[in-house]
Amino acid sequence: MHDLSHLRSPLSTVSRLIGTVIAVQANFYQVRLDQPLKDHHNALISHLLCTRRTRLKKIGQTVMVGDRVIIEEPDYQDARGAIAQVLPRKTELSRPPVANAEQILLVFALDEPLLEPWQLSRFLIKAESTAIPFLLCLNKADLLTSTQQKTWQERLEKWGYNPLLISVMTSQGLKALKDSLKGKITILAGPSGVGKSSLINTLIPQVEQRVNQVSGKLQKGRHTTRHVELFELPEGGLLADTPGFNQPHLDCSPTQLINYFPEAKQQLEKGNCQFSNCFHRGEPNCVVDENWERYEHYLTFLEEAIAREEASQQMADQESSVKLKIKESGQEYYEPKLETKKYRRTSRRQKHQNLQELYENQSLEILEEFEDDLDF
Ligand code: GDP
Ligand code: ZN
Repeated sequence: MHDLSHLRSPLSTVSRLIGTVIAVQANFYQVRLDQPLKDHHNALISHLLCTRRTRLKKIGQTVMVGDRVIIEEPDYQDARGAIAQVLPRKTELSRPPVANAEQILLVFALDEPLLEPWQLSRFLIKAESTAIPFLLCLNKADLLTSTQQKTWQERLEKWGYNPLLISVMTSQGLKALKDSLKGKITILAGPSGVGKSSLINTLIPQVEQRVNQVSGKLQKGRHTTRHVELFELPEGGLLADTPGFNQPHLDCSPTQLINYFPEAKQQLEKGNCQFSNCFHRGEPNCVVDENWERYEHYLTFLEEAIAREEASQQMADQESSVKLKIKESGQEYYEPKLETKKYRRTSRRQKHQNLQELYENQSLEILEEFEDDLDF
């Protein structure tokens, strides 16, 4: 008998390749391998462009940026592979769609654009509601005097936060920031114009170069709002850029809301309100007083949360007739739904045919619109 064991061993070592998904575009996944492979010319391959196994599609297993995946059938020649399995997620965010994020880096500017307390509150509440630890960074410190900087610092400390004041321009605070990003998956969030792109370019000097190396297919949809990409930090760690994340959608319940204000939560920890469903707006024997700067913010967000809960109740009772809208200011409201869009009436089969055509034309941005509908 011939001994065939030597034929099996090389196969079994390549069949359990593990990596992290760093970019998703339509049905392609850019995966950074934990351990680079060697191709036939002994050159190192650190990334593979992968598709997802049909089996995963069938069981409804999605693949997100940040996912830890097992890859099969790597093709060294073209740096391709197939995702066979997604390892269990530690955390999962839907907006932006990122798996295994360990922290959120919330960036605001102290000036230009002017720091808007109301907008900052909305982002802070959103960040609090994810239960993922976050770091608040205030950029453009160079535009403020040190006294003005100190005023903001103290004001936010009263809110229960310890912001890191930075300046991409003068490098103030960047060393401390780099230290806290080391070795972690971090989600970058904040309104536009505060310096997020400038920060990425400073943290990852070769980023433009690297982005250009990404294949044509992945490159195309880079600036669409649903696109998320993980940038690799030189000191280790990944940073998720989230374009279009400038008006976060809140979805907490009215009773949860108070817990997202650290300065009020602290009061709650001292005792119980008389009513277990207390909204903390002047009810008898409420332990939360009205003596805090963001109390007004709380009341406005509370109204929103109550309206949202009532609307979802209505939706459960009857076929949905209202639609959630978000104003310029970030305020949410409901309006009656208009007639369903035409393309929604096309059959599933027709949609798939259209999709096939789109794939062939590689119109990925349009494809993304369809994917929203299809729920792959
Ligand atoms: P993004 O929309 O959050 O990505 O913001 P950008 O990175 O595009 O920056 C918006 C503007 O702010 C640009 O004109 C930057 O040059 C400027 N900017 C970024 N960081 C700083 C900073 O630390 N100080 C000052 N004064 N301007 C900055
Ligand atoms: Zn109360």
